[in-house]
Parts: sequence; structure tokens; C-alpha cells
Amino acid sequence: MNTSDYIKREDKFGAHNYHPLPVVLERGEGPFVWDVDGKRYFDFLSAYSAVNQGHCHPAIIKALTDQASRLTLTSRAFYNSVLGEYEEYITKYFKYDKVLPMNSGAEADETALKLCRKWAYKKKGIKPNNAKIIACEGNFHGRTISIISMSTDPDARDDYGPFTPGFIIIPYNDLKALENALKDPDVAGFLVEPIQGEAGVFVPDEGYLKKSWELCKSKNVLFIADEVQTGIARTGKLLACDHEGVRPDILILGKALSGGVLPVSAVLADDEIMLTIKPGEHGSTFGGNPLAAKVAIAALEVIKNEKLAENADRLGKIFRSEFSSIKSEMVELVRGKGLLNAVVIKPRNGKEAWDVCLAMKDKGLIAKPTHNHIIRFAPPLVITEKQLMEAIGLIKEAFKLFE
Ligand code: PLP
Repeated sequence: MNTSDYIKREDKFGAHNYHPLPVVLERGEGPFVWDVDGKRYFDFLSAYSAVNQGHCHPAIIKALTDQASRLTLTSRAFYNSVLGEYEEYITKYFKYDKVLPMNSGAEADETALKLCRKWAYKKKGIKPNNAKIIACEGNFHGRTISIISMSTDPDARDDYGPFTPGFIIIPYNDLKALENALKDPDVAGFLVEPIQGEAGVFVPDEGYLKKSWELCKSKNVLFIADEVQTGIARTGKLLACDHEGVRPDILILGKALSGGVLPVSAVLADDEIMLTIKPGEHGSTFGGNPLAAKVAIAALEVIKNEKLAENADRLGKIFRSEFSSIKSEMVELVRGKGLLNAVVIKPRNGKEAWDVCLAMKDKGLIAKPTHNHIIRFAPPLVITEKQLMEAIGLIKEAFKLFE
């Protein structure tokens, strides 16, 4: 089979809910992936920041295969010998009392919403069914009905109504709007991405997170950080909230929690919040399975052992400075933190971000446009400086083609 055969087969038998770049990958190692013809690419998407530790990291794969032949799933109907080890490990790692393990990012976000509402009724004293949660315009928290009820993106929402009530939507990076919304005494939580990834890597003003956190504190409202994309070293710190010394009341993690090996997500909080959910009131068949638990421990170990936050911080600065030196009419703006960056593309002679991505693919680097005119650049954090410079060389060559 050639590339076109693989693509045709997916088109024929798979739902058309994605529009992939026309490249068919079959192998990955570190910052690289190879297609079915054996051509090597720098992966500058990292599966939307799930593969921070690099493709098929040997320590994570070893944890996976060792555990896979012992015990994979018990459900939470029984205890298993690994879950407690993971719970102790991750809560000490992120410094919270408790963790609630889930699988996808969306499930973890749903869990956080439920936890916030439960806390609102059990602790804050909001009247039944009145709790509200503030979210931001341009947010991306996943694809469930409740989550898209917060979305302001027509592609994510249109024709999926009716929507879940109980959300207040305010502009992102707007403290005045937050202050106003917090005047409603039924507000229980503020859900925010420290950097809006899917929206196009929107970095809020310095101090926004800290001030938001303070505003929430003053109104006894939970500050809920969705760090599914920004967390786990991606932005140059373990958490993006760490840049401003903010400790969320509820922390949502996913993606790189498994190094891209399995769907593993988590919600972390202290007892006062987490213990409002009682047995039988929330759960998931696969959440907290022993295989995921071992994989997540290994994935978090790699982050620390290989100092990936430091690497992301250092190489991110190099990336942005190198990119700023690209003299192309198509580069409108470069922004980001650590190795979560985006370039805003100005269409030229009918050529758009998609065409730039196709050109980069031909040169040996894959990335994907978001919202037509933005390209996100987020390589695995194990990339070395030498590899990064080689990759930037390929990006520059691709942009030259549009001069
Ligand atoms: N939250 C954020 C900030 C995300 O970026 C994403 C995915 O891109 C999600 C939640 C949803 O994660 P998943 O696709 O694993 O459900």
C-alpha cells in the first residue's frame, strides 16, 4: 500500500471528523516520526502536546510492557496493587491531597466541573441546581456536550444543542470581566487555560493568572486550571500556573501524563474539595487502571529525570528568537511560552497556513494549522538544541518558497 491507499481507506471507512495533513506515519522515536515510505519528519505537533517525553520513550514503554503482562484492568470495584502507588506518587509530585484518575482530557474536565458543582452545594452553600461556573471565550476543554456548552467556537458547537446551562462566558485575559462575573453569588468556579492552546496559543498578560486567582479567593470561588495542554513541562515549568506562582484549587491534567502512550488524565485537589464526591457518585471503568498508573509514574519520572521543563524553557527562547529573524511577509506574529508556540500567518498570493504546513512536510517537518491562519509549533521536549536548529532551518526553507 502507498500513502494514497492508506488515506483512501481512512476516508472510506472512518468518520470525517478530522482533516489530517496528507502524511501516513508508522514509527516514532524521540522528536522524530517516519512515514510509510521511510521518510523522517520532525514532529512539531507532539500529538497536541501529549508526546512531551518524545515518541516511544524507552522507560515509559518498559513500564507499559512490564505491567501489561501482569495486570491491565480491574475496574475500581476492587483495589489493585498499583493504583495507590500512583496516587501517592502523583499527589506528592504536584502537592495535592488527592487525585481522581480518569482517561481523556475531556473526562477530566467534566470531572472538574462536577467536583466544582458538588463543592458548591456541599461546602459553599449554593442552592440546589443554581451553581454557575465561569469560562472564557475561545476556550477549548474537549468535546462533550457540557464542555461544548462553554465553547464559543461555531465548529465545536453548531448543531449540537441543546446545551448544558450553568456557564458564564467572559472574554479571556480580561480581569474586569472576571470581577464583574464574580459578583454573582451563585458562581462556584472559574475554569481557565493558563495559555489558550487550541485557540492559537494565546498567552495572557503577565499577572492575569495571579490576579484571577486572587479575585476568586476574595469571593470563595474555586480557581480551576485546565493544564491538559500546558501542563507537564510544556511551557518551561512543570505547570504553566507555576510561572505566576498560582496553585489552582482544582488542577486538570491529561495528554503528557502518559507521554502519549495511553489516554491518562487526572484531577487533583485537596480533601476539602475532593472528598465532597462520595462512593458511587462519579467514576470510570478504565480510570486508575494499573497499566495507566505504571505508565503515568514512568512518564512523570522522565519529566524530572531529563529536566524537560528546563529544556522547554531554554529551547523555547531560542525558537522564538530564531523565528523572529525569519524575513517573510507571511509571518505576522510569533508567540508562546517554552515549547508551546504559534505563528500567525498572513495569507499571501492565495497561500495560507495549510500551504505552509504542506511545504514544511515536504521539507521534513510536520505541524498543523489551527483556525486556518495559525500554525502551532510544539515539538517533543526531548528535542536537543542541535535538532531544534536543524528543524528551524527546514522551517526557514519552507517559508522561502513563498517569497
Ligand atoms: N483541555 C485542553 C486545554 C485541551 O487542549 C484538550 C485537547 O486538546 C482537552 C482539554 C481535551 O483533551 P482530550 O482530547 O484528551 O479529551
